[in-house]
Amino acid sequence: MNSSRDVLVGGAVAIVGDSIAEVGSTSELRAAYPDADVFDATGCVVTPGLIDAHAHQTGSALGRCCNTDLQTSGQQIFEWAVPFHGGHTADDDELSAALCAVEALSNGITTVIEAGTVAHPERVAAAMQRVGIRGSIGTWGWDAEGVPYSAPADEALDRQRAVLDAFPAGGLVEGWVTLVGHDLCSDELMAGAADLARSRGASMTMHLSPTSSDAESYLARTGRRPVVHLAELGVLGEHLLLGHGVWLDDDELDAVLASRTAIAYCPWVYLRMGQGVLANGRHFELHERGGRIALGCDGTGNGPMDILSAAALASGIARDRNVDPLRFGALQALELATIAGAEAVGMADRIGSLEAGKQADVVVHRTDNPYWRPLGDVAMHLIWGTDGRTVSDVFVAGRRVLADGQPTALDSAELAAQANAAQADLFARAGLKPAPQWPRIDAR
Ligand SMILES: [Zn+2]
Repeated sequence: MNSSRDVLVGGAVAIVGDSIAEVGSTSELRAAYPDADVFDATGCVVTPGLIDAHAHQTGSALGRCCNTDLQTSGQQIFEWAVPFHGGHTADDDELSAALCAVEALSNGITTVIEAGTVAHPERVAAAMQRVGIRGSIGTWGWDAEGVPYSAPADEALDRQRAVLDAFPAGGLVEGWVTLVGHDLCSDELMAGAADLARSRGASMTMHLSPTSSDAESYLARTGRRPVVHLAELGVLGEHLLLGHGVWLDDDELDAVLASRTAIAYCPWVYLRMGQGVLANGRHFELHERGGRIALGCDGTGNGPMDILSAAALASGIARDRNVDPLRFGALQALELATIAGAEAVGMADRIGSLEAGKQADVVVHRTDNPYWRPLGDVAMHLIWGTDGRTVSDVFVAGRRVLADGQPTALDSAELAAQANAAQADLFARAGLKPAPQWPRIDAR
C-alpha cells in the first residue's frame, strides 16, 4: 500500500524495534540483516495491519447475540446497549476489551478506534496493551439526562481531558475525545470537546446519523440538519471522525468535504439494523469526491469483526446502489481498510502501509488452504476471494501478538471461560435477560 501500490513477489520486511526498517527483496534484506531473527512467511500473503475505525470494545462482547434480533435502533440502544453498559464492572470492561482485541487480531485488524462508550478507560487500555493491539481509548462523553455515565458538560469535558493526559497521542494506545453524539450532547459539550481536541492536537469521534432520527431531532431543536449545525458550532474539522453519517443531505455532504471531517463507515451494522444504507448511504459519493473514509465494525454481534468482510460489503453496496460494476472495486475497498483508513483516523504517518519508517504492523495470511489456492490477484483475492479467516500471524509495533492463529499474550480458551463465567452476573447487574426467540429445550 505504498504510493505506487507495489505488490512484491517473494519479498521481505525488515523490522527493527517497533518499526519497519526496509521493505524489499528477500535476498538483499537477508544480506543486509545477516543476524536478524527470521519469520518465514514463504508462500503466504503479507499485508499491512487493517484498521477498524469504529469499535465498541466494551458493552457487547459479553452479551454478543443475546438480544433479540427484532429491535429498532432506538430500542437496541436504550433498552439493550445502554443498560448493558451500565452493568459493567471494571473487570468486565477489561475482559470485554481483551475478547475484542483477540477477535480483531485474529482477522488481521491491528488498530481499533474506540467509539468511547467506556466507563473504565484505563482497564480497557490495559487489555489492549496486554494483548498487543494498537488503537485509541476514550470514555463516556454525554450530558443527556437519565442515562448512565452522563455528566454536566464541564465535568464530561474534565473526563475527556483526563483520558488525553493519561494516554498521549502517538502511543500504542492513545487518548481521543469521544462523545456519544447523536442528539445526546448539548451544544456546549460538542463545541467544548472540539476545542479540547484542537487545542491538544488530539482526535475526536462521535456518532451521527446512522438513521434519520438525528436529522429529525436536530431540525426540531435547531432548525438545521445535524452536520450543518455542527459546522455552525465549529465542531467539524480534520480532528473529527464521525461514526456512520448514513443519512446526509447535499449540504451536509458539502460541509463534511469542505471541513475535511472523516467518516467511519460500518456497513454491516446498517444492514443488520435495517438503517437504510442501500437507499440513503452516500459514502461512495463522498469517497469519489475525495472525502476521508475508514471502515468500522461497530459493536460485536453486528456482523463479524472483520474489516476485509466490511470492505467487500462497502464495494458491493457502492456498486449495487449505482448499478455500476466499473467503479469502487477491490482496490479501493482494500485502500479503505489500510492506507486510506489510516489517513481518515489521522494515523497515516504511522500505519496503513508496509513502508520504511512506519510502525511494524504486519499481517500474515496463510495460503495453503482452499480460499487462496490457486493464488489470484492479491487485492481481488483479499476482498472477493476470502476475508480475515486465513490470518495466521500478526505483528503490532514489531511484537508478534498472534502466532498460528492464537494470541501470544494469553490463553484464548481461558479467556472464553472467563467470558462465560462473567456473563450471568453482568446480565443480573444490568437487569437484562438474554432473549432467544425460539424455545430452548433442555436436551442433555
Ligand atoms: Zn457505535
